[in-house]
Amino acid sequence: MANSSYDYIIVGSGIAGLYAALLAREHGSVLVLTKGSIDDCNTRWAQGGIAAPIGPEDSPEKHLRDTIAAGAGLVDEDAAQVLVSEAADRIRDLVRLGVPFDTSEGEIALAREGAHSLPRVLHAGGDSTGAHIELTLSSLARQEGITVLEYTSVTELVTTAAGARRASPLRSANGVRALNTQTGKTAEYRCRHLILATGGAGQMYAVSTNPAVATGDGIALAYRAGAEIMDMEFVQFHPTALRLPGVQPYLISEAVRGEGGILYDTTGVRFMPDYDPRAELAPRDIVARAIREQMEATGSDHVLLDVTQLAPARVAARFPQIYRFCLDHGIDITRAPIPVSPAAHYTMGGIRTNTWGETTIPGLYACGECACTGVHGANRLASNSLLETVVFAKRVVERSISAPGRVAERTAGAIDLTPARPAEVAPLSREALQSLMWSNAGIVRDRDALGRAGAVLAAWDASLTPVGDRPSQELADLLTCSRLVAEAALIREESRGAHYRTDFPEPREEWRRNIVFRSNNT
Ligand SMILES: Cc1cc2nc3c(=O)[nH]c(=O)nc-3n(C[C@H](O)[C@H](O)[C@H](O)COP(=O)(O)OP(=O)(O)OC[C@H]3O[C@@H](n4cnc5c(N)ncnc54)[C@H](O)[C@@H]3O)c2cc1C
Repeated sequence: MANSSYDYIIVGSGIAGLYAALLAREHGSVLVLTKGSIDDCNTRWAQGGIAAPIGPEDSPEKHLRDTIAAGAGLVDEDAAQVLVSEAADRIRDLVRLGVPFDTSEGEIALAREGAHSLPRVLHAGGDSTGAHIELTLSSLARQEGITVLEYTSVTELVTTAAGARRASPLRSANGVRALNTQTGKTAEYRCRHLILATGGAGQMYAVSTNPAVATGDGIALAYRAGAEIMDMEFVQFHPTALRLPGVQPYLISEAVRGEGGILYDTTGVRFMPDYDPRAELAPRDIVARAIREQMEATGSDHVLLDVTQLAPARVAARFPQIYRFCLDHGIDITRAPIPVSPAAHYTMGGIRTNTWGETTIPGLYACGECACTGVHGANRLASNSLLETVVFAKRVVERSISAPGRVAERTAGAIDLTPARPAEVAPLSREALQSLMWSNAGIVRDRDALGRAGAVLAAWDASLTPVGDRPSQELADLLTCSRLVAEAALIREESRGAHYRTDFPEPREEWRRNIVFRSNNT
């Protein structure tokens, strides 16, 4: 087992990890560990863009209002204030680093997306925003000589009793253990500042827009190390992913509805105005549930998203990636509607942090989709996630060079997962887990289904034998995240934002609070 020491170890090479690495290198030695190739991450697939209140009619206050409205009463307003007021500066940084945002008549072009009150979404290459960001940042990281160890999967966080507070239960993070997935060798790396930027856990679900890499590792690693994990019941289901037999669900961006795309069911009825006055531009959870209901009513596994009424040249220019992908699968979207269904898309919950990205473990920071800063509350406003990654990655690095960090206070009343109860279960596999989560802890939930899911997940957890390779680690991490989701969803006896319970269909004031887990096994 090799040993090396750095000022910063950053786990993950999506936008959060690479942007943090580019900033951190000004202040010390940096090691980036990433479990696949450098660009294997959610970031690469982001289409619509990145929100920022930079338009002439816009302001941070308006962006804040939309963010709070989307978050359904659970947005941390201090964190959201930070998000919107630092947005313009971070966009300037991305432009300076070379991200080629699209322009119109010499100005950065801004698109409008669902639940935004006006156009504020910057995009690059039309609908290839994430690919351009990832390419720009990964090329810069290489040029700047930042050490990036690819195919290196972090399997454990190293923590020790926290300095002067040796008698206290607090431990501080100072390194990681990692597996080289190509050689099978493990190594330990030490650091002064450990930054998790490991992305979300969309792979918990059978139908997901997230690539196979999104297995919630950082959330599970931090939970096992004793960090607090918050808001896991809030999983955003994107209303529109291409649904074709045998084809991995492919995101059809929100911006397609923003540009005028209309939803019809398979009998040809436009249904969204019956569900919400904002029709196709209603928030994602409302559109996702409406589509699910309409699919059930028509006995179909999809509805139709139609852009054939828009100018074909405009569709092909504004959505080149979607246009090409659909064409490659036999659908010319300028002539025929797109078959779509909802899919798991974004993990609102994660490792609880304060507005400086500090977790409840000293020395451990989190930013990006694996973190829970509270800016999304119960539902994320479209295109706020890319923004969140850069705003809080910057703050993590700022905090690391300032006076000793003030760790997010531990939450009184944080709970641990319920121990396993004996249950007869089928063998655990990624597919079995995904299918259980999709049917029992998905877009629509209730006590019985969640209870059954919780029992099966706990039984799988109790019988898990670690094998020590990447697939088994990912499965264990998905299992931990799924247990956190199912249990939080069972506890939250109300409907709010992306969490919908048929047995409690309304929000309840007494539930206007967060559910926080902390493992007692540390
Ligand atoms: C199809 C799609 C479209 C989207 N569109 C938009 C959009 O238009 N606008 C928007 O704001 N958001 C969008 N999102 C969400 C957004 O892309 C993500 O929230 C964001 O990219 C997350 O960035 P990140 O750096 O936190 O994580 P990621 O980009 O997912 O990167 C995580 C990194 O961590 C690494 N990693 C994970 N576990 C380990 C481990 N154990 N050891 C080592 N490395 C590890 C991974 O390999 C990866 O490099 C979209 C998401 C998807 C899937």
